[in-house]
Amino acid sequence: THFGFEKVPEAEKAKRVYKVFENVAQKYDVMNDAMSLGVHRLWKDMLLHVMHPQPGARLLDVAGGTGDISFRFLDYILYQQERRKRRAAASSQTPSWQDISDKYPTEDRPQESRAVVCDINKEMLKVGKQRADSMGITSGLSWVVGDAEELPFDDDQFDIYTIAFGIRNVTHIDQTLQEALRVLKPGGRFMCLEFSKVTNPVLAKLYDVYSFQVIPVLGEVIAGDWKSYQYLVESIRKFPDQEEFKGMIEDTGFFCVQYFNFTGSILHQVFLQ
Ligand code: SAM
Repeated sequence: THFGFEKVPEAEKAKRVYKVFENVAQKYDVMNDAMSLGVHRLWKDMLLHVMHPQPGARLLDVAGGTGDISFRFLDYILYQQERRKRRAAASSQTPSWQDISDKYPTEDRPQESRAVVCDINKEMLKVGKQRADSMGITSGLSWVVGDAEELPFDDDQFDIYTIAFGIRNVTHIDQTLQEALRVLKPGGRFMCLEFSKVTNPVLAKLYDVYSFQVIPVLGEVIAGDWKSYQYLVESIRKFPDQEEFKGMIEDTGFFCVQYFNFTGSILHQVFLQ
């Protein structure tokens, strides 16, 4: 095949993916910065700006790895709460969030915002938990080992489902999307960050050189693991393009599916509302 891709049998893929992330877990965050020159932070920030979560929102972050999306989610909510407080304080007529919430009996109050990080790989979650500890995050966050294709959650539980750089790693995309729909509350949002097909031919050429010649070298130098990073590049190339992926999401039963191309469509973001 193109670039000499190795054909991995379907039954082998999950095992292979597990090994890759088990191997890279400790170096995962450093590698993300190195490979994307820090740009993955901006992509994740963008996701949060589009999401614009409000206090009380419940997030399920699937393939959540070391927690980047969930940390941002909790930060964003804190920021929203602070803003509300400040706005209320600026106008003496407006009751503060606290005044309002004190008037309601406990059971009527909005639930506490929560983020659940779900990942199939316990090594990735372990690194995530260590990060949470070092940031002093003590509430609103939980870590669950689980498969995106068979989520360990009841129906209608979450307001927002995110999957960032994760869906290309699953064996059955359709099954993963059905599970997302199942665990989301009616009206909930599915949001996905994923690499995609680059449309500009000049950029596409540069991207190819970077992906196939620079990334595995970085993988070897920083994480001592050429093969895992070669897998990463291959998995990006095999993923459906923007329109095809959008069609798959619609076929699952989601409405208003939109995508945005970022950074010359190296990355795209899909969400529905
Ligand atoms: N979302 C994180 C981020 O943006 O930094 C981590 C992304 S990392 C590239 C991909 C993650 O997908 C890995 O942590 C891997 O263990 C997880 N993963 C792969 N297959 C999965 C599956 N079937 N179910 C849940 N997680 C899976």
